[in-house]
Amino acid sequence: MATYREQGIVLRTYKLGETDRIVHLLTQGRGKVRAVAKGVRRPGSRFGGRLEPFSHVDLQLYEGRNLDVVNQAELLASHARIREEHTRSAAGSVMVELADAVAQEGERDNALFLLLRAGLQALDARPVDPSVFVDAFLLRLASVVGFHAFTEACAVCRRPGPHVFLSVKAGGTLCADCAPPGTRAVDPEVIDVVRALGATGEWAVLPRLARETPDAHRTAASYARAFVEHHLDRRLRSYDAVPRG
Ligand SMILES: [Zn+2]
Repeated sequence: MATYREQGIVLRTYKLGETDRIVHLLTQGRGKVRAVAKGVRRPGSRFGGRLEPFSHVDLQLYEGRNLDVVNQAELLASHARIREEHTRSAAGSVMVELADAVAQEGERDNALFLLLRAGLQALDARPVDPSVFVDAFLLRLASVVGFHAFTEACAVCRRPGPHVFLSVKAGGTLCADCAPPGTRAVDPEVIDVVRALGATGEWAVLPRLARETPDAHRTAASYARAFVEHHLDRRLRSYDAVPRG
């Protein structure tokens, strides 16, 4: 049997039989991988505790016909602090659920992998209110899969902004010429928050932004949700379980 080595993040796990577990992973090199971890629910299992949701692991696997088989698992980051607290684990669940939904089996997507890793690291740092990281994750994931929320320019004609009309369907801000009648005009602060949420890289500034402009954050958060539900054609079931301060 061919073996391979991969870094992965555990998206979800299922019980299989008496002692095994099926693990869904987002790997760095092979997209989504579904694998069996044999015997991991036995007491004293070698690596059972390492294959929990949100864990970042280094794995050796055998290629199987339907499911691959986990042969070795080493923890790179357990992210146990996300599992320990309800608010953070609810936020982490939105992230892994969405990553699970968009990841393709056998297709490398390094940007998606790095995004999920960064989002979980932000949660693991024990933020007081993790909901802003969920909002950022939604817009950043949409961008990774090809639906970027425009905030610097008009989403239709690309005229440089800032513009005050904001549309889910059109994909971001719109200039006065492109905005259909009835398009909502929002406070410039809202556009600023949407831009910060969707920007790649920066996570640490987000909690302060949410705290300092709570109304704009609330509007931007509901925009992020509607944006993902529309463009990814998906109901975010776990989103409502994230407590908002
Ligand atoms: Zn325009």
